[in-house]
Amino acid sequence: MSRRDPRSRARQCATSFRCLNCRLDVSLDAPGTAHRNHCPNCLWSRHVDDRVPGDRASECRSRMEPISIAVRGDGEWVVIHRCTGCGALSGNRAAGDDNPLLLVRTAVGPLARPPFPLERLAGS
Ligand SMILES: [Zn+2]
Ligand SMILES: [Zn+2]
Repeated sequence: MSRRDPRSRARQCATSFRCLNCRLDVSLDAPGTAHRNHCPNCLWSRHVDDRVPGDRASECRSRMEPISIAVRGDGEWVVIHRCTGCGALSGNRAAGDDNPLLLVRTAVGPLARPPFPLERLAGS
């Protein structure tokens, strides 16, 4: 396995960002996604994209909380974020080095707080 050294390629844009939630310095180079926008350690993101992933056109810049997981047709996991500033929702493909425990915890999160008694589902 070889990792590209970000310093070996001159780039116009930043090659890393600091997580607003856990303060980790996160490299933008991520396995499995071209536009990493969330922290692999705590999965929090930042509201920087407007309509297109990677456009960095949003003025909001607030923290985005990972609230759920969506699954694409090919089985790929997408982390759903909700902006703590403006409430916008966005989806970002899970990266190969995202914290698997947190991904699973996020996926089952709603089951831990059902809005109705789960017993109702058990047989009838
Ligand atoms: Zn983080
Ligand atoms: Zn926002």
